[in-house]
Amino acid sequence: AVKERGRSDYRFYQPQMNVGLLSRMKLDQAMRAALEQQQFELHYQPQLCLQTQTITGVEALLRWPHPEHGFISPAQFIPIAEETGTIINLGRWVLRQACQQASLWHRDGKNLTVSVNVSALQFQQTGFVDSVHQALQEFALPPSMLELELTESVLINDVEDTQEKLSALKMLGVAISIDDFGTGYSSFGYLKRLPVSKLKIDRSFIAQVPDNENDSAIVTAMISMAKILGLQVVAEGVETSEQRHFLQLLRCDFLQGFLFSPAQKVEVIDALLRDSNSL
Ligand code: C2E
Ligand code: MG
Ligand code: MG
Ligand code: MG
Repeated sequence: AVKERGRSDYRFYQPQMNVGLLSRMKLDQAMRAALEQQQFELHYQPQLCLQTQTITGVEALLRWPHPEHGFISPAQFIPIAEETGTIINLGRWVLRQACQQASLWHRDGKNLTVSVNVSALQFQQTGFVDSVHQALQEFALPPSMLELELTESVLINDVEDTQEKLSALKMLGVAISIDDFGTGYSSFGYLKRLPVSKLKIDRSFIAQVPDNENDSAIVTAMISMAKILGLQVVAEGVETSEQRHFLQLLRCDFLQGFLFSPAQKVEVIDALLRDSNSL
């Protein structure tokens, strides 16, 4: 009895930690349940091609409309899903869902690439490349319609394994972009070595362009570096027409941001595509 009391006392002495653990566990349980009950949604944010002034791609972004807590941001639940490993099943669902939707758009005659965020743990799975291959086949999706977004930290993790997987994905015909570019361990070495095709400049660099001289210089340098390396560039988080104008002058390839549209349900994207001339 004494021992038991001792144990429970130990727990009571760290109430915050327990609450923290409990809510993490609860969130993880809720995530698993939501996945089973098909509560997650994929929304899509348009990417505007500056050369053609049309929407040529969309980024798939997870949305969790939680019955009690309202809308839960992926910035809150993705890190926990990564810690608990739930991201593996969640990521698999995202990949298949995005491929299915991309395939529907393709059959509709829409020439739209769909970008999917891939987390480190998901990418590190032995069967990751196979799962991409399977999803493409299952939904009869041309590989060039799919893009995978990886962050710099994923790329430098296990360089040999990364190189192997990226080469295999490239052989499949799937494009790779580096997400949040500039926030991680940017190294010219890996940019040259790895078969990536696009850089997505993190929105923290775009936010104060063109007013902030340093940020403007950095963005200018990033875009010209990308061009020298033969990479395409996407600017993330474009919110103002001043930013758009600045990026247009630099011949940035694609823009993504609230100026055009946040991530939206498929029906809204379809409507946007119908009158995308108005962008
Ligand atoms: P990310 O991949 O860098 O996605 C871009 C984020 O910036 C999205 O936030 C998007 O809504 C937001 N955004 C886009 N344009 C603007 C803008 O003009 N202004 C501002 N302030 N924000 C803008 P979101 O949807 O909350 O996602 C946050 C992060 O969660 C994503 O960052 C990504 O890292 C992760 N995430 C989202 N969906 C998935 C997923 O399916 N799988 C994985 N592994 N991660 C995901
Ligand atoms: Mg992304
Ligand atoms: Mg990003
Ligand atoms: Mg990100």
